[in-house]
Amino acid sequence: MSRDSTDLTPVKTRRDLMLEEMGLTPVWRLRARAPAEGAGGVSEAPAASEGARITNRESPQPAPRQKPRITNHESRITDSSDRRSEIMSLDWVRLKARVASCTDCPLHAKRNKTVFGVGDENADWLFVGEGPGADEDAQGEPFVGQAGKLLDNMLAAISLKRGANVYIANLVKCRPPGNRNPEPHEALQCEPYLHRQIELIRPKLIVALGKVAAANLLASDASVASMRGRIHQYRGIPLIVTYHPAYLLRNLADKAKAWSDLCFAVRYMKDLQSSTTAST
Ligand code: URA
Repeated sequence: MSRDSTDLTPVKTRRDLMLEEMGLTPVWRLRARAPAEGAGGVSEAPAASEGARITNRESPQPAPRQKPRITNHESRITDSSDRRSEIMSLDWVRLKARVASCTDCPLHAKRNKTVFGVGDENADWLFVGEGPGADEDAQGEPFVGQAGKLLDNMLAAISLKRGANVYIANLVKCRPPGNRNPEPHEALQCEPYLHRQIELIRPKLIVALGKVAAANLLASDASVASMRGRIHQYRGIPLIVTYHPAYLLRNLADKAKAWSDLCFAVRYMKDLQSSTTAST
């Protein structure tokens, strides 16, 4: 419909519409502080630069993982290759059952439900968060609280939705009490489950949501700001890093950076998909 010359409503650009779709506008609106989420402790240093650098597609080799700290917990803390091999041999049904009954780290003691992951088991896109919060622990599904709503909006803004070519999982499958970050030994103990999920899904691209997911997947201590805008690798699969939705709920100014990261991811995925089509 054409605009009449007396219509003074500002014209919305495509970007405005997309940001609106993501729940990113108006950026100046004061919102009530979001309730603490699974990644309630998510704190990410501000990004150094606005735009994602698409040309710098480096693929650093992950640094060697640290040996787990063996502490005196009620349950066994191991990262034996036997345990990993056993988990890596499981199919979806057995893997889900193994996670549901897992007592291999102290997080199991206070959980209500394990949160395995949800979505299309053949998805091109895999989004990885940190760990369940209270809502996820109650429902057994990742990202169902306030941060989850924002994640759903972020997906919608790039024409994706959970379950359709998208899988959503967390680094740890049980809620860290009080929404604290998972301890390194807890993340280490849980990582083989995510590793196996990734092997079964074989996504084209992994999006690490926030510092804890990125740091553990990339065995790096770098800030989200410094990891954004580049293609990393998790066991040979391209991975990009962006801010955690719980962090974005508290840091509205960084939503534009997350939007830029999503645009970067979409462009990269298009390249991947067209190169797959060209080679078949
Ligand atoms: N935060 C996460 O990292 N994961 C969830 O599932 C919910 C909140």
